[in-house]
Amino acid sequence: MRPFGTTIFSEMSALAARTGAVNLGQGFPDTDGPAEMLAAAAEALAGGANQYPPLPGIPVLRHAITAHEQRFWGLTRDPDSEVVVTAGATEAIAAAILALCEPGDEVVCFEPYYDSYAASITLAGAIRRPVTLRPGPSGRYEFDEAELRAAFGGRTRLVLLNTPHNPTGKVFTRAELDLIAELCREHDTYAVTDEVYEHLVFESEHVPLASLPGMRERTLRISSAGKTFSCTGWKVGWATGPAPLVSAVQRVKQFLTFVNAGPLQPAVAVALGLPDAYFTGFTAGLRERRDRLVSGLTDAGLAVLPSEGTYFVTADIRPLGGTDGIEFCRELPDRCGVVAVPTQVFYDHQDAGRHLIRFAFCKRLDVIDEAVSRLKKLT
Ligand code: PMP
Ligand code: GLN
Repeated sequence: MRPFGTTIFSEMSALAARTGAVNLGQGFPDTDGPAEMLAAAAEALAGGANQYPPLPGIPVLRHAITAHEQRFWGLTRDPDSEVVVTAGATEAIAAAILALCEPGDEVVCFEPYYDSYAASITLAGAIRRPVTLRPGPSGRYEFDEAELRAAFGGRTRLVLLNTPHNPTGKVFTRAELDLIAELCREHDTYAVTDEVYEHLVFESEHVPLASLPGMRERTLRISSAGKTFSCTGWKVGWATGPAPLVSAVQRVKQFLTFVNAGPLQPAVAVALGLPDAYFTGFTAGLRERRDRLVSGLTDAGLAVLPSEGTYFVTADIRPLGGTDGIEFCRELPDRCGVVAVPTQVFYDHQDAGRHLIRFAFCKRLDVIDEAVSRLKKLT
């Protein structure tokens, strides 16, 4: 694990703390999630829910997870055998890869990728086969069909897909997902989908890969309360899928954390059951912040790429004379008091992302405005 060093999120948040810069680097909201959820957590803590919960998660949360998947994505699951609660999506991803891969197996993924993917694949002794997302003529991040087809082969064990996608803000279209599904069926591979931003799609629609023909039986679908309910520090996530796959994840989880977040589990169950208005309001709030940041970054002279989902947007630094995102982000706090994240670190083929940086917009509007007014000093 020596090559993995310290994650960029820790490095950039430490830089923000040290310099007092506005932190649009690490993605975490600066306002709390729904009051009903916070009250339920306080009640559970005071009410004695403080010992080990059952390994798959408490029944009320497992039922809430399946009801939410049915309500929003039309997926029907058995809450007793097809759900496991995990320590955030991060543990679900690691446990899924450790459960499904043998050393030497290949994992097809898209780069740039969320940084835990490479580490989890390495922990399993597996090999990543990244397919590069590149801004196309419209600015949307796209992949080359031939490159994706070529990434699949005899050793492919699974495809690891994140949509909506961090750090690009790409939302995979139905046509793109159809192609991925076709390749999974053709090569008889599993799919592990990271859908933590499932409620943050601004223009199009979120389509779970598991909902496509022939995919339900081969897909582990992962999500987390952290994003949807603005509680990234709680680390309550889950994986859903066919019973044999979920049982394999449970077998690994037993020895990673065993169980997690006892008193927070009933609170997340309350949040998942909130009326539709909560979810539409959450999306609308982030859409407004995205629009505010995108227009501010554009005014500041950056070439902003479209963000269709998540709470991130990427921008090209070349119009401001930048060439290397890592250098640019390390200097940004001193130059203007703002922290961003270089997306280069999320690629194996780092050249593809050298000039791109990522900003998070899960922040109050006044914080976004302040960051923009500081960035304008760069021109
Ligand atoms: N996947 C993606 C794409 C993410 O952006 C994050 C955010 N941290 C995670 C997984 C991890 O989620 P969690 O905090 O629930 O472990
Ligand atoms: N998901 C968040 C991001 O991409 C935070 C990740 C982390 O701190 N590990 O910024």
